Amino acid sequence: METEYDEARFRNEIAEALTGDSAIRMIDFYIGTGERLHVTGAGIRQIGALIRSGSIKIVVDDARLNASGAGAEYKNQLNTLFVRTEWVRTKKELEKAKIEQQRDLENYLKWSPDPQPKPGGSDPSVFRSDSRRRGNLVHEATHALLDLRGFKVYRARNEVAAFLAMMVYLLHKRELESLLLGVFQKPTGLEKRADEVAREKGLYTKLGVRLTRADLQPLLRGVFKEYGDDAFGRTPADGID
Ligand SMILES: [Zn+2]
Repeated sequence: METEYDEARFRNEIAEALTGDSAIRMIDFYIGTGERLHVTGAGIRQIGALIRSGSIKIVVDDARLNASGAGAEYKNQLNTLFVRTEWVRTKKELEKAKIEQQRDLENYLKWSPDPQPKPGGSDPSVFRSDSRRRGNLVHEATHALLDLRGFKVYRARNEVAAFLAMMVYLLHKRELESLLLGVFQKPTGLEKRADEVAREKGLYTKLGVRLTRADLQPLLRGVFKEYGDDAFGRTPADGID
């Protein structure tokens, strides 16, 4: 890729997006009636920690993602999360963001009687994060979580888990409405189906909901339609070491 960036910093910021975001804590549901497929915010934060330590690699590689057209993709066998160049801020953008942040701070100090640095302001992060991208990150981290636990599930169930985790996250991030209304980008068919299941089964308001196959049926049907025969393949969950 042509964008030069600080790899260690990028990895840390991706890790921080997964470990430091309180909306992720609201993810807590079971796929199926057994105990095994428990998707939780704590599990996803664990994935963030593995990214920080380098056990899960982050690789910026558009060519690899072009085959599927995905924005990001977790590969089980490689314990690697591939992301697109557009996720990374260029050095130029980063400089601009830093200057803006400095200016905001100076303006604030000029007018504020209390010289406390203003929280927030422009984000000088190397990770170009918007809510949809963060939702994407939660989706892929859910795949990584099932890999970590060594669950050899059908791709269809793996996708169902990832889509539902993402919707719960976006709701608690207060970004679900703008996604569903297509404020920035139209929602996909699977996102809409995932929202319907999450809403109907109380995933947005309750923790520890157990989803039966019948509960998941409308979403599974969508996944089968989207992924075809791939949906029946088993995810090679070989763990992460
Ligand atoms: Zn997926």
